[in-house]
Amino acid sequence: MKNNIPLPPYFSFVKQNRTIEQALSIFNQRLQDAETVFKKFSHEFENRNCPICGAGDYSSLEPFHKTYGVVKCHQCTSVYVNPCPSYDALNYYYNECKCNDVYARLLRSRGKTGSIVLSDRATFLIELIRKELGKKKHIRILEIGCSSGAFLSELKTGLEEQELLKNCSLSGIDIDSSAIEKNVDQGLNLYGMSVENFSKNTKEKFDLIIHFELVEHLRDPFNFMLSVHKLLLDDGLHHFCTPNMLGFENIAIGYNEFRPLAHGIFPPMHLHSFTTQNIIHFSIRSGFKVAQIDTPGNFDVDIVANAVDGNPDNQFSFISEFTEKQLGIVQHWLKLLSASSHMRCTLLK
Ligand SMILES: [Zn+2]
Repeated sequence: MKNNIPLPPYFSFVKQNRTIEQALSIFNQRLQDAETVFKKFSHEFENRNCPICGAGDYSSLEPFHKTYGVVKCHQCTSVYVNPCPSYDALNYYYNECKCNDVYARLLRSRGKTGSIVLSDRATFLIELIRKELGKKKHIRILEIGCSSGAFLSELKTGLEEQELLKNCSLSGIDIDSSAIEKNVDQGLNLYGMSVENFSKNTKEKFDLIIHFELVEHLRDPFNFMLSVHKLLLDDGLHHFCTPNMLGFENIAIGYNEFRPLAHGIFPPMHLHSFTTQNIIHFSIRSGFKVAQIDTPGNFDVDIVANAVDGNPDNQFSFISEFTEKQLGIVQHWLKLLSASSHMRCTLLK
């Protein structure tokens, strides 16, 4: 039978993202740092209600690597770290711990593949801007957690190529002021502060607010969402990415096993796990309407195929029976079924 749909490609995490040795080194450093933070600060960790729905009833799950408590909400089934690391613990983790350096070195070593080749993320956003905001005279874009502005600069290049830049202004905020000082592009307005402080101190409102792999790191993601809501114009868009704990890779490899990518639960970094189910409740509770939730991740099957290799007890170990061609098809289906571990959300005010 002839197929009208082109064969989906196979994405190799270990060839395109990081080698197993690099992944192992980051994983071990992360575990070591998690243990250091736990030993130093666990006496001041605080109990909290479910960060997704606000309910206070939960039951305990297996602790994270015999240290951090992990619980499951009785009202919405969300899984989250409880008690939660304190502000001091997180400050220490992000400023003093080595794993953040190891990861930053890996990102730098990848380098740029060429300025005209835009990432999938930038390409998606440019299309979203054209389609949903293109008729506006002025499009104000804000990235939260922008670091030194590398992504905003890439987006700016793409908008310029598509002749959309003349109507756009690009701003970014990051709690790390030292990163803001390394601003990579003088055409950006970057500010070193938290979103909560920024929303208190500015009268400016935005047409599009974006953030990537940020919301799972925050102690109070609900309060963060309220601040974003306040900063957004009435017809504005809120777009972000976060891990999906119902994704194939997160389900097949638990948070207590070796894994080349951080699980949705990985304290003190990832403090609560969002899913394609609870993100809808969470977004509506924060005052947003849901425009689109999808999972464009590419690496689930490769990560699982490598991780369950030689582990016949894993219920997904049959994956070793598949050819590369079949695995490419499975990953494509995971995307179509919203079952990849990388989630993308677009909300409306
Ligand atoms: Zn809940």
